[in-house]
Amino acid sequence: MSSPCLFCKIIAGEIPAKKLFEDEDVFAFWDISPQAPTHFLVIPKKHLSGPGAILNEDEALIGKVVRIGAQLARENGAEQCRLVMNNGAEAGQTVFHLHLHVLGGRPMSWPPG
Ligand code: 5GP
Ligand code: ZN
Repeated sequence: MSSPCLFCKIIAGEIPAKKLFEDEDVFAFWDISPQAPTHFLVIPKKHLSGPGAILNEDEALIGKVVRIGAQLARENGAEQCRLVMNNGAEAGQTVFHLHLHVLGGRPMSWPPG
């Protein structure tokens, strides 16, 4: 039975995405609606609804998501970048499979809106 989760479907190849990286734990792909010249998402293959669902046993996995995000940013000319995880609808989360946004290639302002 197929998963109702959009990003699980992307991992499974049921929905096409522009893949940037994949290994046994992690999948990275270009955001469909980029908010910066470089904007991709790094996700764990394990379905977690968001940062609030991370368990102790997931700590190494989430560390890997962040490490791969920074490494891919470097490899794609965006060493200086912003790494963002939205946690909950009020914070701007629209897809409830944990994802790290990696944005770069332009100056960033703070605070975010
Ligand atoms: P959120 O708002 O949940 O933090 O981020 C979800 C991100 O997923 C958004 O930046 C949105 O553009 C991206 N997104 C939503 N649907 C798709 C899709 O089908 N393919 C890709 N590549 N990105 C998507
Ligand atoms: Zn999922």
